[in-house]
Amino acid sequence: MTSFLPTVLVAGGAGFIGSHLCETLLARGHRVICLDSFLSGRRENVLPLTNHPSFRLIEGDVTDPVDIPGPLDQIYNLACAASPPQYQADPVHTMRTNVIGCGNLLELAQAKGARFLQASTSEVYGDPLAHPQTEDYWGNVNCTGPRACYDEGKRAAETLCFDYLRTGAIDVRVARIFNTYGPNMRPDDGRIISNLICQALQDQPMTLYGDGTQTRSFCYVSDLVEGLIALMEVPAAPEGAVNLGNPGEFSVLELAGLIRQMVPGSLKPVFCPLPQDDPRRRQPDITLARQLLRWQPHVPLKQGLRATIDWFAVHQGVHAPRIAQTEIKEMRS
Ligand code: NAD
Repeated sequence: MTSFLPTVLVAGGAGFIGSHLCETLLARGHRVICLDSFLSGRRENVLPLTNHPSFRLIEGDVTDPVDIPGPLDQIYNLACAASPPQYQADPVHTMRTNVIGCGNLLELAQAKGARFLQASTSEVYGDPLAHPQTEDYWGNVNCTGPRACYDEGKRAAETLCFDYLRTGAIDVRVARIFNTYGPNMRPDDGRIISNLICQALQDQPMTLYGDGTQTRSFCYVSDLVEGLIALMEVPAAPEGAVNLGNPGEFSVLELAGLIRQMVPGSLKPVFCPLPQDDPRRRQPDITLARQLLRWQPHVPLKQGLRATIDWFAVHQGVHAPRIAQTEIKEMRS
């Protein structure tokens, strides 16, 4: 039962999305406990929150048994590195985080009678054969490839969530998040928007993989956080997962072109081989979120990019990844 001032656990709360979620929940008067191992999250992300009287930070790994004293009304599980270089660095730990970590938090939710929201991902659709992706599409995932620790781990976590939901043990909601961007991303985490912006700001050529015609849909982080909270707050748990993302679809070339326009003097992109199992197209169908949650994103890509570029211009302390010359296939204008 949600009290007037809910106490909320945000696992993975020091990460990119989690830190914005913690900040927004605090602004709404919630008590927030952030549990994070700092595997891919940054202390700087939550530093501004540490003086808030309703904020508590616990350093811990969700693959260990999780014990939080006192009542809990809601648990958001965002704990899992989200960028390929980070989740592939220790794939066994990534898989354990997704399955054992999610299981530990579900047990905690059951013990506390807390509502549970799982941050799943559009990666459960793999390299999709259906376009745009609706929630009833079962996906096209390589279960033995280098991305499987993340994709299949998230699929297994969804299975666990719905098993707990079906037993009636917990009120569980699952968000399938599509590419999200904004301030508090790590400059060195290898995600497309942070990579391209940091390269442009540091007078390096932007690195594009493949021929740049693959598409992605980009959601600004404040829109996504509103969607996560709407899914947590909706009175009846939806029967299945709910897509959250921005349906605007852009090719990687178009994205690079926009960033070049917004960062004066940025260099021509260079092209590198496409990573294994990289999806060709990604676009959420958010009909369900519109209907169930009355939610849709509002921030246009240009406006979100402006805010993100301005943030990186002030905060980037780490150099953008430099590309090996041998990797460069072709220079194009
Ligand atoms: P992030 O890497 O910035 O945040 C993940 C946080 O989880 C980090 O603070 C990290 O330290 C923490 N963490 C990782 N493993 C942990 C463990 N075993 N125990 C405790 N803490 C752990 O990533 P993000 O972009 O903020 O993503 C947050 C969640 O949303 C992830 O679960 C991710 O799969 C999901 N998601 C994100 C996107 C996106 O575009 N950003 C898209 C789809 C899904």
